Amino acid sequence: MEFQHTKEFAKSLDENDTLKNFKSSFLFPQHKGKNVIYFCGNSLGLQPKQTKKALGQELDDWATHGVEGHFKAKYPWYTYHEMLAEPLSKIIGAKTNEVVAMNSLTVNMHLLMVSFYKPYGKRKKILCEHRPFSSDQYMLETQVRFHGLNPDDCIIEMKPRKNEKIIRTDDIVAKIDEIEDELALVLFGGVNYYTGQLFDIKAITKEAHKVGAYAGFDLAHAAGNVKLQMHDWNVDFAAWCGYKYLNSGPGCVAGIYVHEKHTKNPEIIRFAGWFGYDKETRFKMESGFKPIKTAEGWQLSNDPIFSMAMHKAALDIFDEAGIDLLCKKSKLLTDYLEFTLIEINSLLKKNIFEIITPKNPQERGCQLSIIVSSGGKLLVEKLSTQGIIVDWREPDVMRISPVPLYNSFEDIYLLGEAMLDFYKS
Ligand SMILES: *Cc1c(COP(=O)(O)O)cnc(C)c1O
Repeated sequence: MEFQHTKEFAKSLDENDTLKNFKSSFLFPQHKGKNVIYFCGNSLGLQPKQTKKALGQELDDWATHGVEGHFKAKYPWYTYHEMLAEPLSKIIGAKTNEVVAMNSLTVNMHLLMVSFYKPYGKRKKILCEHRPFSSDQYMLETQVRFHGLNPDDCIIEMKPRKNEKIIRTDDIVAKIDEIEDELALVLFGGVNYYTGQLFDIKAITKEAHKVGAYAGFDLAHAAGNVKLQMHDWNVDFAAWCGYKYLNSGPGCVAGIYVHEKHTKNPEIIRFAGWFGYDKETRFKMESGFKPIKTAEGWQLSNDPIFSMAMHKAALDIFDEAGIDLLCKKSKLLTDYLEFTLIEINSLLKKNIFEIITPKNPQERGCQLSIIVSSGGKLLVEKLSTQGIIVDWREPDVMRISPVPLYNSFEDIYLLGEAMLDFYKS
């Protein structure tokens, strides 16, 4: 499609957008009495209007039923997480028995590492992407130490080539082959939080398995953003958070995926709690842990109901919109944003913006990461005073994420105009 940087053109794309009405399902922060233009769904998704009601329902059920709410609440608390398995499975591309909502992301990563990082002999190395998110770095470092090993000997960061920002899949595959029988685990982000690169999860997993290693992914920036097929790609495990693209609220309950070939194996090592215990006999409270043979076998505690209710309210919207249509719109939105940034460069006759996120739609979601050659941080601050929210990551990257559920093409046009104003003045 030939794009144009005009209001009419952007509006015509909005008119043809079958998902346009979902914008009105969300609450926007206000700026001078108007909704802000929000491009930070990669960091904290907006609040669905139905979230407050969902939360109120649980408060009411608690008031009405007390402890009996576990079974008598409108959505019984005892089994609450079971309702979320289906919508989550569609988002992650898994079977319903392979996913469960629980805990928070870093906690879940640690729990999964207990099961899938089992160094022995010389097979003790972990391959991860260059500069993973800080929490993942600390998680990896301390997991290695937990096994009495030295992180410097065990953690290998896959760097891009000199003068490149993006890590080539061929290089990752070659690195896996090189480490070979010393490789215990490959742990990558699905989408890197800084560059916005979507990794080739299928190819990485296949190669890891070829050399006898496990493959796990942190889907914080991928869940609800890109089309995933974790089961078909044969990924061993993954975890994500609920508050970025999944719009479930700050610190909301997170989720895990474990391939069913592992969930069916009760011998697999884990840190356990009573909610991972076989449902039929849980209340006998007997000694000897018997795991549920689904991803629920990794649960520790009873469900955090208020958080779960917010998660459900947000996942209901995903279910209604459908991940395939969302991804289709996301591609068009992101292409339009890319066009707009390049157009600004050409109108200003200066390369202000260098997009480091891959151009290939197979290698990105909706986030574009942009190195701004001049005035980057000031630009972000100026936009914010005009009610346009984008994000700045030190040292030099602006991240903009047009989210298909609540961003429009006109949002992108208006962002472009505000940027032009900034550089012209
Ligand atoms: C956002 C994010 C986190 C945050 O972890 P929490 O445990 O939810 O605080 C971790 N890893 C990645 C890759 C992230 O993008």
